[in-house]
Amino acid sequence: MNRITIAIDGYSSCGKSTLAKQLAKKLGYSYIDSGAMYRAVALWCLENNAIKNGVPDNEKIISNLENIKIEFRFHPEIQSSQTYLNGYNVEKEIRGMAVSEIVSKISSIKEVRQKMVALQRQFGEDKGVVMDGRDIGSVVFPNAELKLFMTADPTIRAKRRYDELQAKGTEVSMEEIAENLRLRDYEDTTRKENPLIQAADAVVLDNSNLTPEQQFDTAWNLVEQKVSAK
Ligand code: C5P
Repeated sequence: MNRITIAIDGYSSCGKSTLAKQLAKKLGYSYIDSGAMYRAVALWCLENNAIKNGVPDNEKIISNLENIKIEFRFHPEIQSSQTYLNGYNVEKEIRGMAVSEIVSKISSIKEVRQKMVALQRQFGEDKGVVMDGRDIGSVVFPNAELKLFMTADPTIRAKRRYDELQAKGTEVSMEEIAENLRLRDYEDTTRKENPLIQAADAVVLDNSNLTPEQQFDTAWNLVEQKVSAK
């Protein structure tokens, strides 16, 4: 079967990673969560005093970029890949609210984006990759064979995220989540560097009223068309 590149972009908490993981698994491709990379940089900033009163110390962050090593390691026992920051598994920490609250400020720093985009391109250089994020179809892999742009009603997104965090035992209110999603969408779509945009050749997938199975079937049909067209 021809190996292709699949780029999945969209707003926060639209179910991008769920779909990306399912597609990668079925295709035997690797899955790269580009948001986890920005989250790991944000965690480094929190742990290294590079944020003062919610404002990133850009100079400190940029001069330390070479000391921020991000990798993904596959854990066969849980059949999933985990995010590592400087050799430590930070998968749990990067999903918390402290990171969610500052990650969009960190991801708007030009030098941070340049480093992440270069790494993402390395991860995808052999094709056979499904990557989700905000600028994958527009900037990281503009030639991706399949580009999906996911969206969903904001209230539904907040509820899904709330349920997900509750299941992990994270104490957070629905209002906090809704506000965080609203702010991140705003910051991600209005930033100067590589804002979240729908690539001209992306297929829009609004999953507000789709079950996970219906969403997967819709995407899988598109994958089959692209693979057989190659
Ligand atoms: O996908 P996730 O919600 O985990 O991403 C966290 C944040 O990382 C986003 O809100 C955005 O600021 C940033 N991001 C980005 N570009 C990407 C992926 C994520 O700017 N390709």
